[in-house]
Amino acid sequence: MILGGGLLVGPEGVRRADLRVADGCIAEIGADLQGEGRVELHGAWVAPGFVCAHHHLYSALATGMPFLPGAPTSFTDLLQRVWWRLDRALDLDSVEVCGLVGGVDALRCGVTTIVDHHASPCAIAGSLGVLDDALGAVGVRRVLAYEVTDRNGLDGARAGLLETGRQLGRGASSMSATMVGAHAAFTLSDRSIRACADLARDAGVGMHIHVAEAVDDPGPVRRLAALDALVPGSVLAHGVHLDAEELALAQGAGAWFTHQPRSNMNNGVGYAPIAAMGERLALGTDGIGADMLAELQAGYFRSQEARVGWGPDRWSAVLDAGHRLVAEKLGVTTGRLAVGAAADLVVFDPAPGPPLTAENVAAARIFRMGAHLVRDVMVAGAWRLRDRQPTGVDAAALDRRAQVAAAALWSRME
Ligand SMILES: [Zn+2]
Repeated sequence: MILGGGLLVGPEGVRRADLRVADGCIAEIGADLQGEGRVELHGAWVAPGFVCAHHHLYSALATGMPFLPGAPTSFTDLLQRVWWRLDRALDLDSVEVCGLVGGVDALRCGVTTIVDHHASPCAIAGSLGVLDDALGAVGVRRVLAYEVTDRNGLDGARAGLLETGRQLGRGASSMSATMVGAHAAFTLSDRSIRACADLARDAGVGMHIHVAEAVDDPGPVRRLAALDALVPGSVLAHGVHLDAEELALAQGAGAWFTHQPRSNMNNGVGYAPIAAMGERLALGTDGIGADMLAELQAGYFRSQEARVGWGPDRWSAVLDAGHRLVAEKLGVTTGRLAVGAAADLVVFDPAPGPPLTAENVAAARIFRMGAHLVRDVMVAGAWRLRDRQPTGVDAAALDRRAQVAAAALWSRME
């Protein structure tokens, strides 16, 4: 297939060129490429797909859920009153619908890889497989994890570890991989933390865990280190209240941090020390959809307000760090418009305006590009979104199914 006449907007710069896709990768870039299956883009922008480095697809049916009466008194109160009620109400059918709905939403935002952190305490067995298959049908790459926790008793923790082992046993590919998930240190016993770390080490994968999202989770990295549970390559979400010692411990262990500015502001938990988090800092949404350009914009605004001193280029690097994370977990090169890189591509309808150049593209990602411009998305060389419609699932049928599933889920929460 040849994508002809587009404006290539990638880390290599901005230029008009044609792009040949073969075997899931970018096979050739040049002027006036000829051959079978040429698609004319008429100046549309072509960019690498985005990575959401920390998502909770299980919240996909909670969008627009009626607020519970009364404001939460703390972060733990919020978890108990909303999110832990939601995850306990999930069954395998609603997990599947969440995967399909969240996956389609991600494509519409130009996201081609999702790093997910899943919980469904009353339907643990098989839940990662259901999510994996749903995202496979939608066609996005995924790195899955089940959040092991002791908040539902020892059996709950054991079931989470079993499900993780089962999913690890399905094997990894360039489309799908598994990490060992853990909710957060404050809902885990020492024994469960050690069990997660042992499983991760045995499987050669990292852990994916919330750390210091709120003051309710004090000293989690020190505790993980003391339990020899800082497994290399782990993903530590939030880190809002980490001190210098904990940041250094995590960095020394080769951990990734993820930053979710919209979630942190929404929950009022504080502002993460992003300037001290180093180069292994990626961007996630924490389940607030998958609009990475909206997350980028919010992160930039919040950092401007806090006078962090990060310009658009530094923020673009944080957004693109997700591709390095994906390379580690899925063994595939994404985020580049170069020969040999995966053909994970987004076609944007160009917004009329000033010329897009290598010098202003980082600012354009914050102020000009947006999910509203995403038209087509390709993952591994296959169109997964065409004219804003998913190719792998029937969007109208999925909407009908989601309405029924959401009503049932909300009533189970009551
Ligand atoms: Zn989270």
